[in-house]
Amino acid sequence: MFDLTGKAAIVTGASRGIGAAIAIGLARAGADVLLVSRSAPKDDVAAALDAAGQRYAHHSADLSHVESIETTIAAAMEHFGRVDILVNNAGIVRRGSFLDHTLAEWEEVLTTNLTVPVFLAQAAARQMLIQESGGKIVNICSMLSFQGGINLLGYAASKHGIAGATKLMANELAKHNINVNGLAPGYIDTDLTQALQRDEARFQALSARIPRGKWGKPEDLVGAAVFLCSAASDYMHGHILCVDGGWLSS
Ligand code: NDP
Repeated sequence: MFDLTGKAAIVTGASRGIGAAIAIGLARAGADVLLVSRSAPKDDVAAALDAAGQRYAHHSADLSHVESIETTIAAAMEHFGRVDILVNNAGIVRRGSFLDHTLAEWEEVLTTNLTVPVFLAQAAARQMLIQESGGKIVNICSMLSFQGGINLLGYAASKHGIAGATKLMANELAKHNINVNGLAPGYIDTDLTQALQRDEARFQALSARIPRGKWGKPEDLVGAAVFLCSAASDYMHGHILCVDGGWLSS
């Protein structure tokens, strides 16, 4: 049910953090994986992919520009000849108060976290339709798909946006046997959250609210990601799956 043998996956933002963990997880489940990011995957990521034994390649692209969409699909076709799975994971945050948030920050975050993922999903879905064998699209959401948070205006807007777009895509693509779902991490120890973790007062306040009692690691997302990319979730459409240590329930 969870076997991904013969499937070709694209994982954006896979050089490190959550995307790298998901790319490795998909490869271990049997998928060939195209890793998309500006920088090459770290050595330990490449070593884990080597050990997984599936085909993988890195496509260097800047996903803050819409031009990256076409090159990403082309790279997947060049390496694997098909696209069965897309994990829209790459994301950025620009922290600062609402009153100080600039239009440039807003546009950079919205393009990277919402515009490119949506139109990359559209391009992937078009290829899946040509293949006539369905597909899986997983959009990485956030607790900020449900809550407003503070000091990250563009991020909260983009993560609410991708959750809504996920549901629309799910509605329109379900009849084509394409599952579109969201995966919403709680607070995870990655480069993205270093500033938050260094802010001692905020770190303590956030940590105290997590029922599990600790922040998550990128590996904590892998099981749910494999599930959403596999036949095990074939009847799931438009769901936002939270892996958050209980945060949203607390
Ligand atoms: P990291 O900062 O650790 O990694 C981000 C990844 O995205 C890197 O591989 C980076 O690669 C890539 N990336 C960023 N900008 C671009 C770009 N312009 N073009 C191409 N690739 C880019 O982040 P996380 O692993 O923490 O986050 C991954 C996803 O999970 C994001 O969507 C984030 O919003 C979401 N998330 C994270 C949470 C957390 O607590 N960490 C909580 C909720 C959601 P490179 O720099 O090499 O281009």
